[in-house]
Amino acid sequence: MSPIRKLDAVVVDQIAAGEVVERPSSVVKELVENALDAGATSIDVILLDGGLRRIEVRDNGHGIVAAELVLAVTSHATSKLSSSADLEAIASLGFRGEALASIASVARLEVISRTPHNPAGASLKVDFGVVGEVRDAAAVKGTRFIVADLFAELPARRKFMKQASTEAGHCVAWVERLALVHEGVAFRCENNGRLMFEVRADDDLSARCASVFGAHIAQRMIALDRPGEGLSCSARIGPPESARRDARRVHLFLNGRWVRDARLLRAVREGVKEYVPIGYYPTLFLALHLDPERVDVNVHPQKTEVRFRDERIVFGTVVSTLRQCLAASTWATRSVGVFGSAVAETSSSGGATSSHSFPAPSWQRPDDLRTSSAQRLDLASAVAAQLPLTSAAQPAAAEFLSIANTFLFRPVAGGVEIIDQHALHERVNLEELRREIRQGQVVMQPLLVPALVDLSRTELELLLGWQKTFLRLGVDVDAFGATTLAIRGVPARLTRLHPEKLVMDLLEMAAENRAASPEMIQEEMLFSMACRGAVMAGDYVDREALQSLLQRGANLPQDRTCAHGRPVRILLSIEDLEKAFFRR
Ligand code: ADP
Ligand code: MG
Repeated sequence: MSPIRKLDAVVVDQIAAGEVVERPSSVVKELVENALDAGATSIDVILLDGGLRRIEVRDNGHGIVAAELVLAVTSHATSKLSSSADLEAIASLGFRGEALASIASVARLEVISRTPHNPAGASLKVDFGVVGEVRDAAAVKGTRFIVADLFAELPARRKFMKQASTEAGHCVAWVERLALVHEGVAFRCENNGRLMFEVRADDDLSARCASVFGAHIAQRMIALDRPGEGLSCSARIGPPESARRDARRVHLFLNGRWVRDARLLRAVREGVKEYVPIGYYPTLFLALHLDPERVDVNVHPQKTEVRFRDERIVFGTVVSTLRQCLAASTWATRSVGVFGSAVAETSSSGGATSSHSFPAPSWQRPDDLRTSSAQRLDLASAVAAQLPLTSAAQPAAAEFLSIANTFLFRPVAGGVEIIDQHALHERVNLEELRREIRQGQVVMQPLLVPALVDLSRTELELLLGWQKTFLRLGVDVDAFGATTLAIRGVPARLTRLHPEKLVMDLLEMAAENRAASPEMIQEEMLFSMACRGAVMAGDYVDREALQSLLQRGANLPQDRTCAHGRPVRILLSIEDLEKAFFRR
């Protein structure tokens, strides 16, 4: 056995570096954040081989005086924090005073800096933890950091690096994130002499979104800014078709800091779930501004995780901001393409017609079958009409052809409308249940014989804790002995609902969201009831039932998507058909 001894400072820094500096992009992130903290309005990131060979970050911020250069690269030395009280309200991006020391312990670092009041600059080199001498150096106002040979002396770490092009991608991603939220600052990033990203200082948020997400998406983003005392929020959401299975296009910011937080992501999914299919994430910019005292960013060395003093308020704001934003969007209204742009948008954006940009017909359109064939073939007129909505005309069940007991087809002006029967029924249920809740509570149908479900004691406890919320939703439950739950009533309109299945859903929900508010549980339950109470794909629906479903569907506030964000109906336009048959 070796004796116990204190590690030397370089090893300590290298261990700490393991947490801060994972790859070249972590260096880029830390250096750019430092530049922002230094008040820079212009930041250049110059990479060689994706940062594996060399990373240079130049800024025009307030600089570091020669006498403090050594301190700057020493661990636990910072100008941003002086007492533990400051930790309670962190307003800067950095505060731990360990990034530079960490980087310098695993690479060759050089810093050249000049403050505005000094005619000359100074430089300092640190090679894998070995600190050199401060020298005079010619320099413009601001700071330059050069980091070369990252992990060169740590083969174990070097091994984990990916191809230079992949590392370059990670680096640019960090520049993009910080550029999105720091308006007023110019950013530039190049790799091996090639420009990868650029925004000017006067580029506003829309211009920044265009640089990061592409002009096509940025043009169609919905904006919502919610000012507030102590908590404000601004959001930009991309169109549904720009949603992705991974969260790479989700950008959440807290006080100018890009954060990645599982619970915040959950709130995002909650907020968009009616517009974006389950399992997908929207293209999103969402910036929260909160009193620094109300959040704790000192959770993890990379500072991308956060804790909120009042989680519910923050998550609630995220969810409601997104919902508000989406409800105001054209995606939620009728007579807009299920997949894409509204007609007006298409023409204003220079006729970017994909096969997906067509208007979906509305339930309230006049009986299209009776329009002349000339009109039917004329997509332009069907589109231009954006037909006036009159609640008189509803489609009759007889117009529809049912395929595979799942899809309902009918010819309409400009093409063929296809409805997913389950999706429609689910949306109808959801909207009707919501209406009943607004009026007090969901109308309940007592069961003649209560349904009994055997549970464990804790499960029973858990469910009984939500008894009141359940009752509002038309579900009447109570204990029947120590381990049995009795379901005494279910929502009257959900005739297809299987009470035991509902209880299992409730249990899952209550178990998953122990910290959830009654509103959240209520929402979750609504969705589950709307789905469980709907006809399934493959169920036979007779004409009478279909007629009633169509009627109920005729007056929905939103009928674009089912409760889970899948489309309720789509329109195959004549143009689409022509394309399919190579007539175009
Ligand atoms: P932190 O950012 O947590 O304070 P760092 O190790 O990243 O710790 O930086 C240490 C200190 O070096 C900072 O507190 C700041 O005073 C100084 N510094 C670092 N980068 C810059 C920069 N680009 N411009 C001016 N000062 C800087
Ligand atoms: Mg820092």
